[in-house]
Parts: sequence; C-alpha cells; structure tokens
Amino acid sequence: MKITTENIQVGFHARQILKGISMESKDKELVGIIGPNGSGKSTLLKCILGQVPHSGKLHYVDAKGKHTGNPIIGYVPQYLRFDRTSPTSVMDFFAACLSKYPVWLCSMKKLRPKVLESLCRVKAEHLIDRRLGALSGGEMQRVLLSLALNPMPDLLLLDEPVSGVDHNGLKLFYEIVSELREKEDMAIVLISHDLPLVAQYADQVVLLNKKVICKGTPQEVFNRKETKALFGNIVAPLEEEAE
Ligand code: ADP
Ligand code: MG
Repeated sequence: MKITTENIQVGFHARQILKGISMESKDKELVGIIGPNGSGKSTLLKCILGQVPHSGKLHYVDAKGKHTGNPIIGYVPQYLRFDRTSPTSVMDFFAACLSKYPVWLCSMKKLRPKVLESLCRVKAEHLIDRRLGALSGGEMQRVLLSLALNPMPDLLLLDEPVSGVDHNGLKLFYEIVSELREKEDMAIVLISHDLPLVAQYADQVVLLNKKVICKGTPQEVFNRKETKALFGNIVAPLEEEAE
C-alpha cells in the first residue's frame, strides 16, 4: 500500500493550518513526520482519517498497483482521555472496542485468546488483566497499537505522545512498528518527537511547518539547514553507525 497526498489545505476560521501538503510513501515505507509544536502534524493525520475538512486529494495504491478508494486505516492517537481511576482492564477495553467487528463476536472466554494473540504482536500479552489507568505511557501506546491492528490495516497512522513514554518504551515501539513494515503490506506514517529514533528507523522523513519544509531520507532531512535551525544537530547517531 502506498499513499499520496496532493495539495492538502486546511484552514480553521480563516487561519491557514496546512498549506499545499504533497507527499508520498513508497511500498513498505515508514514515513516519519517531524515539526515544531502546532505545525499541523496531528491535523494532517486527521485529514487522512477524514476527521478534518480539507481540500486536495488523497490517493491509495495497493500492492498490485491498483488504486483503492477505501483502505483500512489503523490509528493511534496522541492522547486518550479516560478516567485513570476506572477499574476497566485492558481485556475489557479490547472487548468494548472490538465487539463491533463480526470476527470478534463471541463470548469473553473465546475472546481472551484472540486478545492475547493481538497483545502478543506488540509484546504486551502480560498486560491483559492490568487496569488501563495503571499502564505506563509506553504500555498504553502499545495497547493502542495492538487495537489499531484489528483488523490489520492497509495504512497505519501513529501520532506519538509528546511526553510520558520513557526511552526504552519508545525504542520498543519503533522496533515493533519497524517489524510490522517488514511483515505486512502496509504504509506507515508516524509523527515523531524522538529525532534520533526517527533517524534510525524511518525510510523517509518529512519536516512539516504548516507546509512541507523538506523531505527525503533521514540523512538528507537532518542535514538540511532548516532542520538544524529548528532542532540543532542530530545526525551524530547516524554518523556513528556508519563507522
Ligand atoms: P501539531 O500536532 O503539529 O502540534 P496540530 O495539528 O495539533 O499541531 O495543530 C496545528 C494548528 O492547528 C495549531 O495552531 C492548533 O491550534 C490548530 N488547531 C488544531 N485543531 C484545531 C481545531 N479543531 N480548531 C481550530 N484550530 C485547531
Ligand atoms: Mg500533535
């Protein structure tokens, strides 16, 4: 699955939020989107999800080169607001979210192995009986990812939390996402706040600030003066790797 956006424009109350966003992912590509706060990253994902009115076009092309109109989209939001004191467990949360899909219409007893299998995919099977409110940021992110993989999407959109996930948790998340890219025919668009990790795992990086400032391989984008002006010099880990 490949996705192309063509001249996406978004305005809220006459204020332009996104200007002429054109980008494309290639097959099995992990596209990392970076940019300062308020640069329109989350809004771009919401356009693709159809949650924000926009002009411009979205094209999807499947593995056989056929244009498809309605891909299955999986989405991990930046925040999930819920009552942290609620007794709801990960298992309850899955049952509530997935019961609308026919394959999941079965008793809790039959559901449990399926939920375990899903959680296993994101190395989170041990969390099945944990209270949602007791999960760390990284654990919550993986539980939301495993939900986004039911059903297995053609396009996976990930809006990484700005804070609350420790470095090991983030690294594990990138490893899992990178593995998915290898195994499934899926386009992945990931908003990232961890530049060294995106430099390591993304195939393509897009620097967004209301418009596309630059795009290319991580090396190309992180060597651009526009990127350095915003984030400083972060190419060191790549250079170390090359030695
Ligand atoms: P990012 O994810 O890059 O931090 P966002 O896409 O959340 O940025 O927001 C981009 C800009 O759009 C911000 O200035 C934000 O205030 C504005 N914005 C986002 N959603 C709305 C909305 N529903 N109504 C009005 N303005 C919005
Ligand atoms: Mg955001």
